[in-house]
Amino acid sequence: MSRFAPVMRKLHKECEEKGAQIFLKTECKKILQAEDGSVRGVLAVGEDGVEYEIKAKCVIMATGGFMGRKDLLKKYFPFYEEDFFGFYVPNMGDGLTLAEEAGAALEGHATLVRETCHSSDAMKEHFLTAAAREPNTMWEETSGRNLQIGANAVLSQPGKKCFTLYDDNLVQEIVDYGYLVPRYPNKDENKQFKINLQEVATRKEWVIQSDNWDEIAEWIGCDAAVLKASVEEYNSFCAQGYDETFVKDRRYLKPLLKPPFYAIKFGVMVVETCGPVRVNENLEVLNKEYQPIPGYYSAGVIVAGWQGHDCNGEHLFGSELGFSINSGRIAGENAAKYALGKEAK
Ligand SMILES: Cc1cc2nc3c(=O)[nH]c(=O)nc-3n(C[C@H](O)[C@H](O)[C@H](O)COP(=O)(O)OP(=O)(O)OC[C@H]3O[C@@H](n4cnc5c(N)ncnc54)[C@H](O)[C@@H]3O)c2cc1C
Repeated sequence: MSRFAPVMRKLHKECEEKGAQIFLKTECKKILQAEDGSVRGVLAVGEDGVEYEIKAKCVIMATGGFMGRKDLLKKYFPFYEEDFFGFYVPNMGDGLTLAEEAGAALEGHATLVRETCHSSDAMKEHFLTAAAREPNTMWEETSGRNLQIGANAVLSQPGKKCFTLYDDNLVQEIVDYGYLVPRYPNKDENKQFKINLQEVATRKEWVIQSDNWDEIAEWIGCDAAVLKASVEEYNSFCAQGYDETFVKDRRYLKPLLKPPFYAIKFGVMVVETCGPVRVNENLEVLNKEYQPIPGYYSAGVIVAGWQGHDCNGEHLFGSELGFSINSGRIAGENAAKYALGKEAK
């Protein structure tokens, strides 16, 4: 976000230079419409309670997602659990209400952008997120360095939690060379990895450390014989340099041989919602007959149809900000043409 701040500052400056008025801390309460449904402005309320009726030929709604609304998260994402770790920004999904009241069509689904992550107290112990995602460990058997792939796999597990396994050699590698997943590339943190891991392990809440797999299996809640067989099989794949089950990238095939062994529990992190306001290619908001509501445009993540229904493996860093800024530009161009009396194209 902070890397994106200069873009916002530049846009802000340009708007002011061109004479635009910016109302901060002012909430849009209603899209005002003429009898034929066309937009004629907005009703807004300032922080001080002052109401503004702003007349306009068109409106672009870019109110963001609905991460602040647990009821909507549950409605749109049946798999959603209260204990998912996430960036619960206080976006309350106002756009859904504004659009619905203006007669807009909402898709039946939205998209929840999610990643694998060490769970709820991750902000305090965020090194565990990088540790859980480390491709050299035993869990990320499919894809190596993809950070997001796997959230669906985690969701299908009992309790929607997974465990990544380390041995002492892997822990020492991180101390010496750092994480492969460069999520928290803090060298001092890498050096502290073993100390931090062992400290968290004393609580046996998110991490367990043991010299034998039986104790680890009991903590995980799985069959010890199955765990040991899985580790042995994985080690044999590492020895031969080929993973016969998942064809894991051979660069990340590292055996688990040297005690103490560790298991790190992790879950799913949610980042953003996308949708469900239906628009056409001009970013015009559509009514229930999928016809544009004249003068009503929308942009950013509130808009549906640009992400896959299931945003898991295909979630790309930057796609939300990228789409938001570009859809804003396209909506702005079309809204300007409309306002000047030209057809939107
Ligand atoms: C911590 C964090 C990290 C992220 N990292 C990335 C990343 O690396 N890459 C990436 O692509 N995306 C990232 N995202 C997601 C990205 O920031 C958002 O998807 C993007 O900002 C959405 O842009 P937007 O313009 O649609 O909505 P927002 O940026 O959410 O803006 C919506 C605005 O509308 C305002 N608003 C809401 N309701 C009303 C109302 N009724 N009246 C007036 N104003 C209203 C809100 O206050 C807000 O200012 C991250 C998000 C978070 C929280």
